[in-house]
Amino acid sequence: MARRKLIAGNWKMNGLRAAVAELDDVLDDAAGAACDLMLCPPATLVPVFASRAAGSPLVIGGQDCHARATGAHTGDIAAEMLADAGAKAVIVGHSERRADHGENDALVREKAEAAWRARLTAVICVGETEAERDAGRALEVVARSLAGSTPDTATAETTVIAYEPVWAIGSGRTPTLDEIAEMHAHIRAALREHLGEIQGIGVRVLYGGSVKPDNAAEILAVRGVDGALVGGASLKARDFLAIAGAV
Ligand code: PEP
Repeated sequence: MARRKLIAGNWKMNGLRAAVAELDDVLDDAAGAACDLMLCPPATLVPVFASRAAGSPLVIGGQDCHARATGAHTGDIAAEMLADAGAKAVIVGHSERRADHGENDALVREKAEAAWRARLTAVICVGETEAERDAGRALEVVARSLAGSTPDTATAETTVIAYEPVWAIGSGRTPTLDEIAEMHAHIRAALREHLGEIQGIGVRVLYGGSVKPDNAAEILAVRGVDGALVGGASLKARDFLAIAGAV
């Protein structure tokens, strides 16, 4: 089955209002892209990005949401608030959230359900640490995290999976192409088992971790890779568009 590729940018805690110039450059090229495009700026920029991107195929997303819709959760943002600000998607379970905020698979699963409740696409992140890979446990660890973080009712319309080896994020290091292919095949098999054939085949699985313009083409050509979740290289429109152009 042909799944349309998705290139998603995660700006993390970077970007002030002046960064809208980068967004405008992405918007100039978004309509001609051969893949779907998503940008996830910090929450402060979601409203301005979403209003500028209105009518374009570029999807604006958040980087995290709370599991509840309202309540006494100082500093948190509900999925409904992101949707109200114009977001159409949200990343949940990024390894930096898991490490910095102690988020576990059960909470990530609740956040994915919160995203759907607000009609946002959930981009669910999973990945192994370097110690887990060195111990030969990468496949097992990722399969367990995927099963714990992904609600059984996930569909191709509501959900994207991002495989992001923790040790590859921001490090300039990536797994070998064979290792990426092996992990994506493993994730695909798990999705088919958990979600059934139709949704299990339809859900897109992105690779994330040090994707740059100079390695994007080879990574995106790996069997089973349906796109990329890009951190640092998504901050500059030129680099983000070069990665999208490698599809
Ligand atoms: C990320 O933060 O999701 C990511 C993949 O970062 P980078 O591309 O900078 O490694």
